[in-house]
Amino acid sequence: MRTPLVKKTFVRSVVFSLICIMPSLQAQPKIKNLILIIGDGMGPQQVGLLETYAQRAPNSIYKGKPTAFTQMAQQGYVGLSTHWPMDASVVDSACSATQLALGLPAPSESIGVNANGDAALSILERAKKMGKSTGLVSDTRLTHATPASFAAHQPHRSLENEIAVDMLNAAPDVMLSGGMRHWIPKSANSDDKVKQQLQALTAEPSLKIKSKRGDDRNLLLEAKSKGYQLAFNRNQLDSAKGKILGLFAYSGMQDGTDYVHKVKTAQPSLEQMSMKAIDELSKNNKGFFLMIEGGQIDWAAHYNDAGGMLHEMIKFDHMLEAVLNWAKLRDDTLVVVTADHETGGFGLSYSRHQVPKHENLPGDRYEKAGYQYSPNFNFGPLASLDKLFNQKKSFSELYWNLEVDESEHPTPDALMKAVNDNLDFKITLEQAKRILMHEKNKDYIEGHKSLGTKELPKFDDFEAFYVYGEEDHIPLIGREVARQQNVVWGTGTHTHTPVPVIAFGPESVARQYSRLLHHVDLGKLMQTQLLGLPNQ
Ligand code: MG
Ligand code: ZN
Repeated sequence: MRTPLVKKTFVRSVVFSLICIMPSLQAQPKIKNLILIIGDGMGPQQVGLLETYAQRAPNSIYKGKPTAFTQMAQQGYVGLSTHWPMDASVVDSACSATQLALGLPAPSESIGVNANGDAALSILERAKKMGKSTGLVSDTRLTHATPASFAAHQPHRSLENEIAVDMLNAAPDVMLSGGMRHWIPKSANSDDKVKQQLQALTAEPSLKIKSKRGDDRNLLLEAKSKGYQLAFNRNQLDSAKGKILGLFAYSGMQDGTDYVHKVKTAQPSLEQMSMKAIDELSKNNKGFFLMIEGGQIDWAAHYNDAGGMLHEMIKFDHMLEAVLNWAKLRDDTLVVVTADHETGGFGLSYSRHQVPKHENLPGDRYEKAGYQYSPNFNFGPLASLDKLFNQKKSFSELYWNLEVDESEHPTPDALMKAVNDNLDFKITLEQAKRILMHEKNKDYIEGHKSLGTKELPKFDDFEAFYVYGEEDHIPLIGREVARQQNVVWGTGTHTHTPVPVIAFGPESVARQYSRLLHHVDLGKLMQTQLLGLPNQ
C-alpha cells in the first residue's frame, strides 16, 4: 500500500508545481517598452477628417505622402474599442483614461480610482515598481484629466491642485505639459517678490506667472529637491537630462492652428516633447512606459471647430510620425494609438445646399449613352478641405481675443470681422448676432459651475448637449459655418462611438489589438504585455 501512496504524492507534487509554474510562464512580459498615445476626442470621424484632407485636398500639405496614421495602420493592426463608464453610456476623459490606466471599470469624472472609489495602481505606477522608467506628455495641462489618471488618485478631475501633489509623489521620470498655474504658490498673485522669484526661476518671460493653488506650496522647488530638472521653454527642455518636469504654459499649450501655421512660441511642440521623453526614458535598460496625449483635438471638437480640429489632427500626426520612426528601429517596443472617446458627433456630410454642376463623364454609360453626370446633392467639394486648412486661428483663440473682460461679450461687428478675417467660410452680421444670443436656461442648477446662470447661449436644437455655459457661444460659430463646410455636429459633448485602436510593434503582440475591445480590457491587455499580470 505504501508505494502507490508515494507515487500519488509524487504525481500530485509534480502537478502542483506545474500549476504554480504555468501562471508565471503566462505572466512573462512580451515587450520592454510601451508608448500609449491618446488622441483626446479622436473618434473614427476625426481620423477620417485628417485622411480626407491629406489624400483629397487639392493643395494638401501631404502632397501624396501617406499620413503617419496610414503608415501605422498598414504596418500594424487596427481594432476598435468601446469606453463606457461603470454606470452609464457615455464617458468623460477622466474616467476613460482611468479605465485605460488601471484596466478596471471606473466612475465618471474620477482620477485613478476603481469602481469602489478606492485608489488603484495604474500601469505607470506598476511599471515604475518594476524598475521601468515612466513619462507623461500632453499639450493640455499636466494635471488635466488624461495625464492625471496615470499618476494621481482623486475623486474628481477638477481637483487639479491635489492632482499636482499626487503626480509629484508618483514621480514619473519625465512630465512635460502646460498648466503651470497648479504648481506655484498662491502668493505669486499678491506678493511681487514671490512673483519675481518665480520669474527668475523660470527664466522664460512669455510664461504667465499666476497661481490657481489654494496654498503656498511651491511644487517647482519641491520637484527640484526630488531631483527633477525644471524646464519652462524649448531651449531649457533641450538641455535638460534625467528626471525632467517641464511646464511650458500657464494653462493649455499652443494649439494646432498656431502650430501648423508656425506662429512663433518659446514652447516645445508635441512632437519635440514626445521625442525628448523617449530619448530620456529609453536610457533605462529595464524599459519604459510613456503616455503621450494630443489633448486639444477634444477641445476643438467641443467648440465645433472643424478647421481647428483638422489642425490638431495634423499636429498629432506629426508627433506620431516621429514616434513611429523611432519605434520602427526597435523589436521590443509596442506603440498603441487610441482615443478616450469621440467628441462632437462630428461628420463631413452631404447636403442640399449649393448642389454643384458637374463636368460630364465620357464613358460608355454616360456621355456616349447620352446620360448626364449630375449627382442630386452636394457631396462636399474638395476645395472646402483646403479652406478648412486655411483657417488662421482656432475658434476659441479668435473668440477669447475679442473678450475685453470675462463678463463682456464682443460686439456682433467685431465677432463678424474676427471670423471673416480668420476663416475662408464667411458669416454675415445677422449670423454674428445669432451667435451672441441668449435664451432662458431650462436646466438651471443653483451653484453649478456652468449651469448656474439663468440664461445660456441660444441653440435652435440639441441645446441640452451644450453644457459649458458662456463658452458655448463658440460652438455656435461652428454651427453657423457648418453648412458651407459640409460639416455636421451632433453635440457639444462626447459620443459613445467606438474609437480606433492602432497597434504597431512585434507582430504577435500588436495583433492582439485587432479586436473589438472595451477600454478596461485594452488597459488589461497593455498591462499584461508590458508587465506580466494585469490589475485584478
Ligand atoms: Mg485629455
Ligand atoms: Zn453670453
